[in-house]
Amino acid sequence: MTFSFDTTYKELDSELYSRVTPKSIAHPEIVVRNDELCADLGLDTAKLDVEMLAGQDRLEEPIAQAYAGHQYGSFTVLGDGRAMILGEHVHDGSRYDIQLKGSGRTPYSGRGDGNATVSSMLREYLYSYAMRNLNIKTSRSLAVVETDDAVNRRRTEPGAVLVRVMNSHIRYGTFQYVAARAPDELQRFTDYVIDRHYPQLHKNDRTYVEFFDVVMQSAIEMVVDWLRVGFVHGVMNTDNMSIDGETFDYGPCAFMNYYDEETVFSSIDKHGRYAFGNQRPILRWNLERFAEALQPLCSQSGLTYGELEAKLDEFEDRFDAQYYAMMQKKLGIGSDGEEELVDEFLEWLRKTNADYTNTFLELEAPKTFDDPVFTTAEFEQLRDKLAAVGLNEELMQEVNPRYIPRNYLVEESLDEYLETGELSKFKRLLTVLETPYTSKDMRSQFQQPPPREFDAEYTTYCNT
Ligand code: AMP
Ligand code: MG
Repeated sequence: MTFSFDTTYKELDSELYSRVTPKSIAHPEIVVRNDELCADLGLDTAKLDVEMLAGQDRLEEPIAQAYAGHQYGSFTVLGDGRAMILGEHVHDGSRYDIQLKGSGRTPYSGRGDGNATVSSMLREYLYSYAMRNLNIKTSRSLAVVETDDAVNRRRTEPGAVLVRVMNSHIRYGTFQYVAARAPDELQRFTDYVIDRHYPQLHKNDRTYVEFFDVVMQSAIEMVVDWLRVGFVHGVMNTDNMSIDGETFDYGPCAFMNYYDEETVFSSIDKHGRYAFGNQRPILRWNLERFAEALQPLCSQSGLTYGELEAKLDEFEDRFDAQYYAMMQKKLGIGSDGEEELVDEFLEWLRKTNADYTNTFLELEAPKTFDDPVFTTAEFEQLRDKLAAVGLNEELMQEVNPRYIPRNYLVEESLDEYLETGELSKFKRLLTVLETPYTSKDMRSQFQQPPPREFDAEYTTYCNT
């Protein structure tokens, strides 16, 4: 089977999307394809040829979605400027958006060229693959297809199309767009999203409060997962916040090595708005903007804004509960009530800037790493304290990755592809990240953090 499309988004008001045509690509070539994802989607790889993956052979007319968003705090009307949804694929009772990224200009492109570089699409492929295997809810990447374009960014390199799969690409910013530009459609749109993602919410006068509640919960779970593995999303604009709590838009993202809550990798995030440790307050800020977008519903339905505010007031306690439960697990503590010990441990991390990933592996199995930060009396004392209540190996192994995509290894693998056309380093990274919680023989290489100065200088970019 190839795609089995049933695109319900086109039944919504035409203000919400535009019909578009992917750019034509003379010689598309598959660089990588995710056969496991093909199987999960019930797709027959023999029939899914490059023409179909590149949007050249189409089953129906693709669409670009309109949306808005707060970008670095400022409200902007946007839309898919270089992305197109080929259709909604239905398999085994689940619905998936099949989206092309880098497939050319749309009515929302502005001055953008609609293109993407092959290195940034390979990067997104790798990060989404890693996040999925780290058990974090995420968009997935079906394939990267190289095009004949020469795309001009920091360097000129081949263009590419990424085939991205999500439960949907609906975001907080889609609600902001509807509230601003098609307010009469807001209730119908919200009902559509509830039917699509949260059909269990019964249609009663509490539905919209419950909807806000589940969106907030899934977002808290997502960000707590990021904090668990040291992920810095890098561009938490409200248009990059999925309504279903899927991590997506792997642009300037990266994994922190040395623990520092101020870690920022994105070239344009000069004030640290989206720093590692700011992801929690920014999530709350984004949820406030989402609540505002739902505000017009308050006069049309039984919902009152006070009810949404009351939900927002629960944010800090709910985030804390989720966060401390996660951190206690990382420390192998099976019971509740050890928040103080978690705080003490975080203080040590802040003070020493130890490698975040390896610290938990070292706690689990002392002398794994040859790093002086782990041989201090203070670390030993902390470990003894933890041993009294935690360090349960089984718990720790479930949540502490042995491997993360180390930034310098990601860059080396992309450079190798650009310089030689070889994917050997990229594929070895994928192999390691297929099972990031399982130790492998090659561990020393892939567990090695970069030199200490690296994180301060490492830079990632938007829109590449
Ligand atoms: P982002 O910050 O990556 O989520 O992108 C913000 C907006 O810019 C989105 O609406 C994108 O579709 C758009 N955009 C990014 N790069 C390009 C490009 N090369 N051409 C057209 N639109 C783009
Ligand atoms: Mg985006």
